[in-house]
Amino acid sequence: MAVHAHPDDESSKGAATTARYAAEGVEVLVVTCTGGERGDVLNPSFQVPEGHEFDTIEGRLAVRRLEMAAAAEALGVRQTWLGFVDSGLPEGDPLPPLPEGSFGLVPLEEAAAPLVELVREFRPHVMTTYDPSGGYPHPDHVKCHEVSFEAYHAAGDASRYVVEGGAEPWEPLKLYYNHGFSMARMRAVHEAMQGAGLESPFGDWIESRAAREIPEREATTRVAVADYFAQRDAALVAHASQIDPAGFFFAVPRDLEADVWPTEEYELADARVPTTLPEDDLFAGLREGDR
Ligand SMILES: [Zn+2]
Repeated sequence: MAVHAHPDDESSKGAATTARYAAEGVEVLVVTCTGGERGDVLNPSFQVPEGHEFDTIEGRLAVRRLEMAAAAEALGVRQTWLGFVDSGLPEGDPLPPLPEGSFGLVPLEEAAAPLVELVREFRPHVMTTYDPSGGYPHPDHVKCHEVSFEAYHAAGDASRYVVEGGAEPWEPLKLYYNHGFSMARMRAVHEAMQGAGLESPFGDWIESRAAREIPEREATTRVAVADYFAQRDAALVAHASQIDPAGFFFAVPRDLEADVWPTEEYELADARVPTTLPEDDLFAGLREGDR
């Protein structure tokens, strides 16, 4: 179960991993906390699909549902919505308050309840989410961490989140944080691009991130996914309102990427089974023969 804040996050964080496990026969469910209805158009070549509009919250919600369905198909995964409303990325100094009713403002118990129920129904062995900082300073990403952490710890406890007629308690066995955008990866790809005489898209990114002194978290688990980059790319392109096919995500030649950085990284945040770090498999310790 891969929990994400907005439609498109599943395609930019750990996408090739989900495609790989789905291809290997794992049941993969992407859970999207919000409808992404406050995302602006980030792709200059975006054309609003026929019969749709993008000027209203409802219109955007419908477009982003279409995009999400296409992305899930590209990855070969199932996907479902928690049904919360996108908080938008607050900008300005001081930051404006979050819009009323948005995901970032929903109290934890209320925000985690539908995910707890979903964990009890889907019964995942492994959950992925973001680290406590959100991995990116968006209130919905921080909230996504909070509800995932809460659901991972509470879903197995019959005395918590009691729902009449609800599913039986279920305890997932491993919890991971996505770390695909590590400085180590950005630097390695940046240097390889420069070494090949290509213009790297990551120079500014590395500088601004270094200037903010964001502490790097530890990657414990590297999953080999280069064979699934094409599916990841197709999923990214499916989010046509958000992802510019001529932009940042596509600036690195794929053979160079496969050569320099063929993995996606994770931090093991909790395990209820014995495992040895570093790992190369999110299911290490869970496979037949491991126990
Ligand atoms: Zn997001």
